Amino acid sequence: MANKDYYSVLGVDKKASQDEIKSAYRKLAKQYHPDLNKTPEAATKFKEINEAYEVLGDEKKRANYDQFGSAEGPQGFGGFSGGDADFGGFGGFSDIFSDLFSAFGGGGARQARPTRGEDINLQMTISFEDAAFGCEKDISVNRIETCSHCNGTGAKNGREYVTCPDCKGSGRVRFSQNTIFGTTIRESVCSTCSGTGRVIKEKCAECGGKGYKKTNSVLTVKVPAGIDNDQVLRMAGQGNAPYGKGQSGDLNIKVKVQPHKILERKQYDLHLDLWVPFTTLMLGGKVKVPTLKGSYELDIKELTPTGTVMRIKNKGIKHLNREMYGDLLVTLKAEFPKSLDKKTRESLREIEGINSENAYVKYKKIKDQIN
Ligand SMILES: [Zn+2]
Ligand SMILES: [Zn+2]
Repeated sequence: MANKDYYSVLGVDKKASQDEIKSAYRKLAKQYHPDLNKTPEAATKFKEINEAYEVLGDEKKRANYDQFGSAEGPQGFGGFSGGDADFGGFGGFSDIFSDLFSAFGGGGARQARPTRGEDINLQMTISFEDAAFGCEKDISVNRIETCSHCNGTGAKNGREYVTCPDCKGSGRVRFSQNTIFGTTIRESVCSTCSGTGRVIKEKCAECGGKGYKKTNSVLTVKVPAGIDNDQVLRMAGQGNAPYGKGQSGDLNIKVKVQPHKILERKQYDLHLDLWVPFTTLMLGGKVKVPTLKGSYELDIKELTPTGTVMRIKNKGIKHLNREMYGDLLVTLKAEFPKSLDKKTRESLREIEGINSENAYVKYKKIKDQIN
């Protein structure tokens, strides 16, 4: 699913609002819905549109897609695999599809979604260097976990239960209902066993028969080198366990990166305003530039204008999950002494005197504009 331009699939701009994306999606979904559009390419197109909307329609996935080119966030940090990207049924689009189906006058049969534990959203602050080089951090997470004593069954030792007599273990019951259209058979969750298909004989003492309990766990988070402020690490399946059968939610960790004392990060490049004595810019010389790892010696040519930007290749931040580095961009700025002693002032007066007006091209250009 990655590496497709979802924006062009939906025909929207990268800066489109969530509302614009939703309305573009609705329009296209109606146009290519296989029930309405019988052209051979409609089904493929419809699938593409849904794929794109599944990502762009969800602000979190969209942000990941914008940053990493995939809805899953940074890949390959500790082998957490994506859990919910599977496009099974139209589960995620119920709000839109219920609209669509009612517009078509049909009643869309929607599959019941398996229960899923809730996501946990946490924030973690790391240093600038830890973000640049990657690190491992332990975090404490309060979450709901499946009770290991009863394997989530809620029954003592995971065995002290019997098959539900009302639904015979299926968890669902059928009943007929008389309506003006005739008798219809309806199905619903068995109320005796709440859909679990079994009834507990003796409760698990550890969780009180609930099958889950609140715990505090310390998890080690692998932070990939190159992560930036406000990016989210998703640990699939590390969120809350569901109440009953199903998948655990995800643990989403928003990373806050502390600023560096002097270096400023823009994407993968680093920027530095390097103040040097004005004489160094005039006469040239060597200056040391601080980098993330040690220092770098920069050669400044004679008569280098103030504001000159020098690019030091590969001294920036490592790209996420790629062996590529940004650059360090050094803006040279002339610093003047805080005060002048008599001798320096006299030397400067001398320089001022010997330089003709023509020595300063930019200065002259502006001066010539006056009358
Ligand atoms: Zn238990
Ligand atoms: Zn039952």
